Amino acid sequence: MLTPEAAFAKVLEVARPLPPRRVTVREALGLVLAEPISADRDYPPFPRAMMDGYAVRFADAGRTVPVAGEIAAGRQVDIELADGSCIEIMTGACCPPGTQAVVQKEHVRREGDAVALPAEIAPGQHIASAGSECRRGQEALPVGTIVSPLAAAVLASFGVEIVPAIPRPSLATITTGSELAAHGEQPTPVQIRDSNGPMLAALAAEMGIDASIAMTVPDRFEDILDALAAAAEKDLVLIAGGVSVGTYDYVPRALERFGAETIFHRVAQKPGKPLLLARKGGQLIFGLPGNPLGCHLGFHRYVAAAIRRMEGKPPAEVYRGRLLQTIRPKTGRAHFVPAQASWSNDGWQLQPQPGVSSADVFHAAAANCYLHIPPGPVEITQGNDVEFSLFSC
Ligand code: AMP
Ligand code: MG
Repeated sequence: MLTPEAAFAKVLEVARPLPPRRVTVREALGLVLAEPISADRDYPPFPRAMMDGYAVRFADAGRTVPVAGEIAAGRQVDIELADGSCIEIMTGACCPPGTQAVVQKEHVRREGDAVALPAEIAPGQHIASAGSECRRGQEALPVGTIVSPLAAAVLASFGVEIVPAIPRPSLATITTGSELAAHGEQPTPVQIRDSNGPMLAALAAEMGIDASIAMTVPDRFEDILDALAAAAEKDLVLIAGGVSVGTYDYVPRALERFGAETIFHRVAQKPGKPLLLARKGGQLIFGLPGNPLGCHLGFHRYVAAAIRRMEGKPPAEVYRGRLLQTIRPKTGRAHFVPAQASWSNDGWQLQPQPGVSSADVFHAAAANCYLHIPPGPVEITQGNDVEFSLFSC
């Protein structure tokens, strides 16, 4: 049985960045750029006035000079500025040749068709010279940039509408269990509703992924095999339940028949020991525990890392914080304990919200992180520091 660290390392080793695709800037938000983006021209493309005011010459500092004209943003004007005059100019307009500085409107006194200029004028003040922000051909967004709203602004500036980016993986979910009532049906006294399917869809949605195939199947070998076949085109398949050692836990055998190679099966952790990772060609298949909390941890810790890797991103950060309540592990396995992390001036404070079992999502629903409690039945007392990983929301 692998340790959680070894299983995590295996996930990062087996998951590979997906081949880049050309997508619209809108679709690229949150994706990793696969090629550098360079400037199509100098930015700004012309000496740009940074303030509403007057384009002036230094020689006229402290003098009153006539206003020879006006230049609004976006207007091309054929005027050359000479000593002894100034031109009214608006923010974003092109400074006329001969401009040495722009004086803010608030810093002059207008007297009819003339303005009294301040005594102090700094060279180049309030002018962004051509190319001062970015040179034509300069790499503005390197490979590996995650397309953010600011990156979208850069792309829009350059007139780029389609970008090569590493896509999000396509996803199918399969929830298994003959005890699961059909969607929309009243469960019998010995049935339950499928909560793993909606939870996995929500976890995927938080990462911007739509589970385009979501199936629920009973514990029947053929049905599981059919579901795997129906998901064969997807980059990633999550199959929850039936992964353990019960008589009707067909998933490991079905994966074998399906032709998938098992990378690992079972991880020394609580919750979520019956975790399985398999690969078929370029497809990754996770077998997740049916127990809802184990299923959640399996996604939070392992599936999310695989998704980030497939998207060309590093794993999510692990933090440290102070325990507000002593934890006494009941097994020697590594524990991932749901907890509420809150930020204070002293750093992160961690209030454990343990479920009563790995089926119990009800206590855990108030949590926003998992504490990483190392293996060994060693109590960790209140006030000590532990590692934790935050949920997305
Ligand atoms: P299994 O991993 O199939 O042995 O299931 C372990 C526990 O999780 C059992 O109590 C199942 O009833 C429960 N379970 C399995 N699948 C689901 C599901 N989709 N939604 C809620 N509970 C489930
Ligand atoms: Mg089951």
